[in-house]
Amino acid sequence: MTTPPKPPFADPAPHQRRPRLAVHKFSSCDGCQLALLNAGEGLLAVAAHFDIVHFAEAGVVDEAAEADIALVEGSISTPDERERIRAVREHSRWVIPIGACATAGGPQAHRNLAHAESWLASAYPQPEHVTALPTATAISAHVPVELELPGCPVSTAQVLTALTSLLAGASPRPEQDKVCLECKRRGQVCVLVAKGAPCLGPVTVTGCGALCPGLGRDCYGCYGPAENPEVATLARRFRDLGLDADAVARRFAYQNIGAAPFTQAVRDWRRPAVGHGDGDD
Ligand code: SF4
Ligand code: SF4
Repeated sequence: MTTPPKPPFADPAPHQRRPRLAVHKFSSCDGCQLALLNAGEGLLAVAAHFDIVHFAEAGVVDEAAEADIALVEGSISTPDERERIRAVREHSRWVIPIGACATAGGPQAHRNLAHAESWLASAYPQPEHVTALPTATAISAHVPVELELPGCPVSTAQVLTALTSLLAGASPRPEQDKVCLECKRRGQVCVLVAKGAPCLGPVTVTGCGALCPGLGRDCYGCYGPAENPEVATLARRFRDLGLDADAVARRFAYQNIGAAPFTQAVRDWRRPAVGHGDGDD
């Protein structure tokens, strides 16, 4: 659930000082924080225009600090995280989940479709010492958020654009185009048409610049489902390309398996291919 954008910094107070920026980490690999750290001159510009009050990867630690903008990496996967995200929400004017973990649960959301306890037992000799929720879920499943920036990792350019917009008093808008549009704009050869590759570009929101198709590979859906994705139709197209039902399911079972349209595709196709005959096209 994403709340309607509200005018950022609508009261004059924040303009009397530099806006405060926090970067929080939940269950994640830190890759999205690193994407921000690797922004080079962009990061220097952020440091020049914001007071960075919490960003552990950058060496600034004050998790309880009040913030105008909280970028949040990672999914909610433990009872402790469920409490922590509520505190972040209380202390922050804008909460912006960044990356597939924070917007859809990330790779760890694979456990949402499995028996979490048996997974734990297979990985740890004493699973009773592991405190984890049975699911890994997006930040928006726990607290209202103002904007979501997907991707694995998140697009540094999209983060910087959002911060710049907020700094200028404008509401940043989420990207809506599908990867296919980006592909066409760049004049790239369609790997689905030309090679019969099972490309997720028709249902995935852009943000990567159609990177994989540009390298002759099919899109893996790193940025998650676009608006109104025709997932069921694309899944049937994959079947017609020769993928068996499990292979179709696996196409949707990457970083964004926790996003509802992709979760549904996995549920529909992971079973034997009953109900996917030509008659239901
Ligand atoms: S979205 Fe990808 S890069 Fe970012 S924290 Fe999660 S797994 Fe790492
Ligand atoms: S290669 Fe993939 S993303 Fe590009 S146009 Fe074809 S289906 Fe769309």
